[in-house]
Amino acid sequence: MSRMVIAAGLAASAVLLLLGKDYLHASLAGSVGGRDCPAALIQEATARAARTFPNDNAEPVIRCMKGPALGLRVDYGASHFLPVLPTLILLGPKGQNTDVLAHELVHAEVRAKTGALVRSYGLPTWFDEGLGMQADERAPFQDLGDLAPSPGDFPELGEIGRPSTFFRAGRQSRLNYGFARCVVAGWLEAEGTDLDGFLKDQSLLGKFPTDRFEPHAAACRERLSQHS
Ligand SMILES: [Zn+2]
Repeated sequence: MSRMVIAAGLAASAVLLLLGKDYLHASLAGSVGGRDCPAALIQEATARAARTFPNDNAEPVIRCMKGPALGLRVDYGASHFLPVLPTLILLGPKGQNTDVLAHELVHAEVRAKTGALVRSYGLPTWFDEGLGMQADERAPFQDLGDLAPSPGDFPELGEIGRPSTFFRAGRQSRLNYGFARCVVAGWLEAEGTDLDGFLKDQSLLGKFPTDRFEPHAAACRERLSQHS
């Protein structure tokens, strides 16, 4: 076996161990500190997520948390992914609503259509979060007028492609989510008629076609920076 194959195998094992530990922790916390969510909430959020993915086939496990459990604190929503096992969605006390659950259901659907590893490592974070935001109508992310940035205040897509650069605190967080929402909405409107096919084409080793989103990013920078 070549050294490269062994190195790739070791890297894959390390990633699985990392994801596995996180998934197991979340799964135990969901069992200890969670309960079934209200059926009406699941029904309404599923209908909302179906606007983005009419052909849904993810069957996530969903737990509504009363509070922190086993050291795990979820305020809004958090999804956990592991190959083979179903996506695990934990909803915190502030996240037991249609917006947050529909957002997480979209993440679960992306994972179902790409696989856990491609979703986590093959897609830019702004794209995955931008898709989630299509089902998430929370007001602060719809209108960024009060942030009043100039077009140059918005990030380059390449700067928000990883979780460590996308997930920020406060104002920057709202800006990133609102911007990602706008960019993905523009792309979906222009060429996203076969979203399932687009997702199936993405792979761990392939290059994500960020250039196809750049015109929409430019339009969003102009539009969102105008005072409303
Ligand atoms: Zn999200």
